[in-house]
Amino acid sequence: MIMTEEALDVIVVGSCMTDLVSQAPRLPKAGETIHGHKFFIGFGGKGANQCIQAARLGAKTAMVCKVGKDFFGDNYIQNFKDNGVHTDFVGQSSGSATGAASIIVNSAGENAIVIVAGANMLLGSEELQKALPAISHAKVLVCQLEISPQTSLQALRLAQKNGVKTIFNPAPAIPDLDPDFYRVSDVFCCNESEAELLVGSPVANVEEANQAGQELLKRGCGSVIITLGSQGCVVVKTQESISKHVPPTPVMAVDTTGAGDSFIGALAFYMAHYPTMILEEMAHRANQVAGRSVQAAGTQTSYPFRDDLSAELF
Ligand code: ADP
Repeated sequence: MIMTEEALDVIVVGSCMTDLVSQAPRLPKAGETIHGHKFFIGFGGKGANQCIQAARLGAKTAMVCKVGKDFFGDNYIQNFKDNGVHTDFVGQSSGSATGAASIIVNSAGENAIVIVAGANMLLGSEELQKALPAISHAKVLVCQLEISPQTSLQALRLAQKNGVKTIFNPAPAIPDLDPDFYRVSDVFCCNESEAELLVGSPVANVEEANQAGQELLKRGCGSVIITLGSQGCVVVKTQESISKHVPPTPVMAVDTTGAGDSFIGALAFYMAHYPTMILEEMAHRANQVAGRSVQAAGTQTSYPFRDDLSAELF
C-alpha cells in the first residue's frame, strides 16, 4: 500500500462533477435552440471541491470517488494530480459517465441546471473497503450527499470506529436524512437553506441559525456550524449551551459559487493540522479562506492557495 505509509490529513469520500457552462442572453424554451456567447468547462462536485481546497492549504489529501472511463474522468484525475491530491482511490467505471452538470446562465445571472450524477452513484462498500487502510489512518474524513447517502453514512461510521474526526456536510439537503448521520458527525456543517430543511423552520438570520444549530446539536452531533454567506457562520458546541456568531471580514463578493465547499475544505485542513485549536477559531479562519474565494470567479478556480493568504491563518 503506497499511500498509507504516511497518514493522510484529510480524506474525502464524495462526488466529482464536470461543469459544462454556457452563457446566453436568455434561457432556451422547450424545443428551442439559441446561440450563446461563451462556453467553459469547470471542475466541480462538492466532494472534490472540498478536497481541493484542503489540498491547496497544504493538507495531505486523498479523494475516494468514482468517475467514468471517459474524457471527463481522465481530465478530472489529472486535475486532482495537479492539485497534489492522491488518486489511488479514484475509480473509473465503464458502466456510467463522469458526473456532469450542464449549466446555462442568462444575462441576469439566473441559471438552469441539469445534473447527471452518473458514476458518482456507483461508489459503494467495495470502494470503501479498498480505501479502509487509508481511511482508518487519516486525521479527518469529510462526506456530503452527492453520492449514495448509504455510502456516505458507511464511510462516516468507518471513520468514527477508527477514531478519525468526521465532518459531515448534508448537501444537497434531503428531508428524510437518516438520523444516524447526526451521531457519526463530529462537526455537522451546513448552510442556511440546508438547516432550514432539516429543522423545518426558517433560518434567515443569526438568531434563527442559533436556534436551528441548537436543534441539530440535540440530534447527536459533536458540534454544529451553520454558514450564513456574508454574515459568516454560527458555531454550536455540546460542551457549551450558547451558540457563537463568527462574523467574516467584509469583502467585495464577485462570485459566491462554491464558497460553502471552500469553507468546509478549510475547516478540514484546520481540524487536521491544529487538532487542539478551538472550533470558533477554526471557523474564523475558514471564513477568511472562503471570503477569499468569493472575490474571484468560478468554483475551484477561485480557491486560494496557502501562499495567497495571510501567514496569520497558519
Ligand atoms: P454556500 O456556498 O453553501 O451557500 P455560504 O453562502 O453560507 O455557503 O458561504 C459559505 C462561507 O463563505 C461563509 O460562511 C463565509 O465564510 C463565506 N462567504 C460567502 N459569501 C460571502 C460574502 N459575500 N462575504 C464574505 N464571505 C462570504
